[in-house]
This record gives sequence, C-alpha cells and structure tokens, in this order.
Amino acid sequence: MPIDLKNLTQRQLSEFFASVGLPASRVRHVFELVHRPGAREFAGMSTIKKEIRRVLAEHACISRLEPAKVQRSIDGTVKFAFRLDDGAVIESVLIPAKGRHTLCVSSQAGCAMGCRFCLTAGMGFHRNLTPAEIVNQVVAAQEHMIGAGVVRATTRQLVDNLVFMGMGEPLANYDNLIAALTILMDQRGQGFSERRITVSTCGLPSRIRDLARDIRVNLAVSLHSVDDATRSTLMPVNRTHGVEDVLAACREYATATKQVVFIEYALIADFNDAASDAHRLAERLRDLPCRINLLAYNEVPNLPYRCSPETSIRVFKAILAKAGFRTLVRTSRGADVSAACGQLAAMESV
Ligand code: SF4
Repeated sequence: MPIDLKNLTQRQLSEFFASVGLPASRVRHVFELVHRPGAREFAGMSTIKKEIRRVLAEHACISRLEPAKVQRSIDGTVKFAFRLDDGAVIESVLIPAKGRHTLCVSSQAGCAMGCRFCLTAGMGFHRNLTPAEIVNQVVAAQEHMIGAGVVRATTRQLVDNLVFMGMGEPLANYDNLIAALTILMDQRGQGFSERRITVSTCGLPSRIRDLARDIRVNLAVSLHSVDDATRSTLMPVNRTHGVEDVLAACREYATATKQVVFIEYALIADFNDAASDAHRLAERLRDLPCRINLLAYNEVPNLPYRCSPETSIRVFKAILAKAGFRTLVRTSRGADVSAACGQLAAMESV
C-alpha cells in the first residue's frame, strides 16, 4: 500500500525518506511540492531527480480531494461536499469577507457529540478524518479559487484564515488534528501562522490542556450557557464535562499560552438570551481572559430552537460590553445553502 505523503509532517517525511533510502537533503523540497495546489503525481515534478521520482512513485502517492458538489450562496459563501474513499461525505465552507477568505474545515465525518442545535449531530459519527483529508480541504479550496480566477501574489494568500468549525469535534480527533495543523503551519507546507487558525471545541477539558502544551492556535469554546442544566439540554457533553470543568481548562489554557480564549455563544430565543443570562455569563467569565462572539442562532428545519430577536441580541451585547468584555456579534453566512454554523450535514444527492 503506497504511503500518502499528504498525511506526513516534515519530520515524518524525513523518516519515510530514510526508510526507502532517499537523501535527507531533498525532504524539504519534496514536502513543499507535495503541498502545492494542483500536486497530483511525482512524474510532473521536474525539479526532483528522475531516480528520486521513481522511488517515490514506487512507494508513495499524493492524495487530493475533488468536490463532488459545490453550492454558492447569494452572499458569496461557497459550500463544498467531498466524497471520501470509503463513501463518507464531508463538507467545507469558504467564506469571503472584506477581500479575505476564511475556510471552515471539517475534522470528522459526522460527529458523536450530539449537540441538539446542530444538523451534523443528526448524521451520527462515521469516523475521524486523516491529516491528509483535513489538509486536502484547504488545498481543494485553493484550487477552486484559482479555477475561479482569484489572483494573489502567492497561492498561500488565497485562503487567509482557517476555522475548525465544520463537521466534527476537532479535539476528539486529536492526534490527526495536531498532525494536520503541523503540516498547515509548516513554512514549507501551507505556512499558516498561529493567528490565522482557530480550533473550536464543544469543551473537552483534558484536550484543551493538551492543546496548550502541543501547539499554538486560537482556541474557541462553544459555551452557549453557563447554567449546567440549560447547557446539558443543548449539549449532552456537558453532563460529562460541566461548565466549571470547561472554564477551569480555559483559564489554564489562557495562563499557559498567554492568549485569550474565544467564547462562542449562540443566542436562542427564550432559551439563553435573557438579560439575566448575560449577567450570569459576565459573572462566570470575570476571571477568564476572553473575547465573546455572539451568534444569532441559525434555525434548522425540524429543530425546536428559534433565533433571538435583534433587540434581545442588542441588550445581551450591551450588558457584556458594560461588564468590560470585548464582544462581537458574528454575522451568519451562507444560510440559504445550509452552510451556516450548525447546518452542515452532508449534502443530499452527492
Ligand atoms: S456543534 Fe460541533 S461538536 Fe456539536 S454536534 Fe455539531 S459538529 Fe459536533
């Protein structure tokens, strides 16, 4: 079985080179070529010696993802569906804003976390994505942009930011996530800086601590309520890892990394959007260096939750701002093609 080089960090590629008798001096160059958009086979890599290409073709391959379906929203958001080798379908969402592009990346096929407001949860859990399947979502988006005539000085500048907020709980696929991040942040790979990557979690405390130790990226935590009973209704994971466990891990993360934590809070009408909820949230976050992202809940057919009215969102934000929190109301994008937060659920007819 050939080794998929897209799965390997530069260090792992060095080990592979050693195992097949290739010179260590060519590792960096091959790594760079493999991660360029459009990379498919070794034969076309004219800057590598013929003998090296022959050995690579004998022992290795370069995987890629091609969208099985692409949907474009009226606001310019583009949703990609990819069918994986085993038939599982995953989605990524490319969000343009003010001349920049953010890619929302999936980390698992389906999800086991069961959040009640999320369509992905309804798919159940199929499997973890490999590092290559995570990295290839980024490359596929870059290839789509090149095909659409988007011009940047370098291919690295095509996608500006990555957010791991697509299908799946990234921290539940921890080892593959770290490998993918290592590849994406490698200057010879995709070269994303730590400021341009955000990993979003529903709140797995031990993995939040691991992340602080293993790699530097932005951390976003979906909180949605600081009341355990309310949060457990919405997010079953809260029955195992309650609000205080999650916030304690966030405080440790902020101390260890000297970074703020992004708190995500989807406002649901008559559920978690009262002024008293905002006051409680401010009280519980008092000792956490954080920024708060409020999001008007994206309604999903057949789910009972409704989006908060604008007035409630304004009042909620004002209370947090008055308490000294930097608070942003995030605009929902791509809802007309079910590409908004919580709406990814593997397009039908892919
Ligand atoms: S919100 Fe995220 S963690 Fe929760 S079920 Fe959906 S994909 Fe999984």
